[in-house]
Amino acid sequence: MKHYVAMKRGKKSRLSDSEWKKKLTPEQYRVLRQRGTEPPFTGKLLNNKENGMYICAGCGSPLFSSAAKFDSGTGWPSFFEAKGKIELKEDFGHGMRRTEIICKKCGGHLGHLFDDASQTPTGARYCINSAALEFKKKGIPTQGRILFRHLKG
Ligand SMILES: [Zn+2]
Repeated sequence: MKHYVAMKRGKKSRLSDSEWKKKLTPEQYRVLRQRGTEPPFTGKLLNNKENGMYICAGCGSPLFSSAAKFDSGTGWPSFFEAKGKIELKEDFGHGMRRTEIICKKCGGHLGHLFDDASQTPTGARYCINSAALEFKKKGIPTQGRILFRHLKG
């Protein structure tokens, strides 16, 4: 419920730091709000192969489709394109020049963008922390609809 209260407040669901702390799990908070990185091969969504949408764990904004997910072997969920609203920012942290991926709606840190995925249609690798995402399984047709089609045919 807290989630929806935050969303109603404005277009951008910007919360205060203590509000985020209450809303998120410690791991989500560390990644999304403190730009942390989860250890590789530990994320809950790494091996998820179901059809659906990956949404921001902070604000629920749809970000990546399962159709763009691929196994990069890096230990983090990887996508070759973004479906939702993201922001890219130069990141010079840790002595490297990288491109940070941020959720446009809530400003949460998602991961980094690389261009080393030659096996994909775009060559891009959106390297995303599982902790920054929630998975929404694609809805299957309802029983009623199947039945109706049956009766008609
Ligand atoms: Zn977000």
